[in-house]
Amino acid sequence: MTQAVYQRTAAVSLDELTPFPGNAKRGDVDLILSSLRRNGQYRALVVREIENGPLVILAGNHTAQALAMHGSGACDFTVTVKGEERPCGVCQNEPWDPSARCEVVTCDDDTARRINLVDNRSSEKGTYDRDALTDLLSYLDDDYAGSGYTDADVQILIAPPPSLDELADTYGDPEADDFWPVLKFKVSPEDRDAFYGLTINCPNPNDDAARFSWLLDRARVAAEAEATAAATVPGQS
Ligand SMILES: [Zn+2]
Repeated sequence: MTQAVYQRTAAVSLDELTPFPGNAKRGDVDLILSSLRRNGQYRALVVREIENGPLVILAGNHTAQALAMHGSGACDFTVTVKGEERPCGVCQNEPWDPSARCEVVTCDDDTARRINLVDNRSSEKGTYDRDALTDLLSYLDDDYAGSGYTDADVQILIAPPPSLDELADTYGDPEADDFWPVLKFKVSPEDRDAFYGLTINCPNPNDDAARFSWLLDRARVAAEAEATAAATVPGQS
């Protein structure tokens, strides 16, 4: 047995589920619970069945945590959508024993680890089509509950990019040297001390770039002097 093999879909009591040992992801359980209440459990957990062993959650560990956070019994969450009152998507406002809809699979240990890792990784590796995202959000009529977005998130998304004039107001007009190359490198403490020692007479000592320029001028003069001296050494002219 190598790859995951689907066995069945079942509602499983949370008591019978074991979190994936060493799951590295720290999910946003509050956000997931708000989605579950608003949308219901739209996706099954993926759990691994081991002979004579526990049902281990490969994917959906934080959904299980959110369901546990809801707790047993009825809650009084309701939401009004277009004039219609809807109950909590987890408990339907009725007595509820914590459970989750699970797809049960069998697989080997290596595949189990890979599924747990890639399920977490694949969602964070994706990117967004910003226009498509803004479009989708615009259909929600400013009610972002259960979408994972807040009013503030959406404001940032739909805010038009600042104009060049606005940027200039905020940051000032660009200076000629804004686009100059930046040198950045590590040096030993001895070289750093030597740099500041050799440039101590620079007329603008508070500016490392001025010190560097000043040092280059000195090096240029020294190189020219060396070339002149070499040219005047008897027998070499
Ligand atoms: Zn509820």
